[in-house]
Amino acid sequence: MPDDHYVDYSQLLSQLLNDQFELNDTVISFLYHLFPGELFVKAMSLLDSNDMFIYVFDKAHAQCEHSESTETEPDGSGKEAREPQDAEADADANNFTNSFSSSHTDNTDLVSLLYKAPETVLYRLVVKPETAQGPPICVDLDHWFCSCEEYGSQFQQNFIRDTSENREPSIYSRAVTELNASASSNSDRFAQLPLQHNVQRYFRHELVLCPHLLAFAILLQTSSQVLTYFTQKNATVYLITVQHLDEWLKLHLNMIQ
Ligand SMILES: [Zn+2]
Repeated sequence: MPDDHYVDYSQLLSQLLNDQFELNDTVISFLYHLFPGELFVKAMSLLDSNDMFIYVFDKAHAQCEHSESTETEPDGSGKEAREPQDAEADADANNFTNSFSSSHTDNTDLVSLLYKAPETVLYRLVVKPETAQGPPICVDLDHWFCSCEEYGSQFQQNFIRDTSENREPSIYSRAVTELNASASSNSDRFAQLPLQHNVQRYFRHELVLCPHLLAFAILLQTSSQVLTYFTQKNATVYLITVQHLDEWLKLHLNMIQ
């Protein structure tokens, strides 16, 4: 569906932080109104929940053999430095991430790479299951996909069951906005899909957007300062490097169980 993409969501969301590298309350109250319902509030509480994981496969140092597992905090503070009330969350997180070894490589470089050349990084986005029995929630920003029920029902409703007379003929054209090839390139990265034939494409997030997608888009489609804030200063989002191929594969097995 050819259209213009007017609002630069990346730019707006990157103003979450002020010059003192703290959350900007004025901007937050504005952003609250930018998204429907409680979506923005839910995304912000997810970012504060210790339930979000960014797993990065370290291809450069990848090994195949199994080794002792270790777990390190993305902020480098170690578990001893965490508040006591985080103990339960840590226990849950450890249960979910059990046996994944991670190394505390230079996260500053990793954050920079995730912004400057994300196509060179193999990474997976996971939210801890809401219940012990539930499956983890998997998010794929490149395809604007989330495995949660909310995403599934919105997709069904807006793209599959759409019976309006003037609907687009294919699900793709209903779901994706392609920028006019003659238009100047757009700097907005929010809900942006990989280039196809040099055409900039955006998923129509106004039709399908859940808190998980919004929260990961805030982390990875705004500015590297925002990612640094949540993974290092606030330290409520885990940025974990996986160096062993068997553990990387185990991560995927856990996702589909
Ligand atoms: Zn979701």
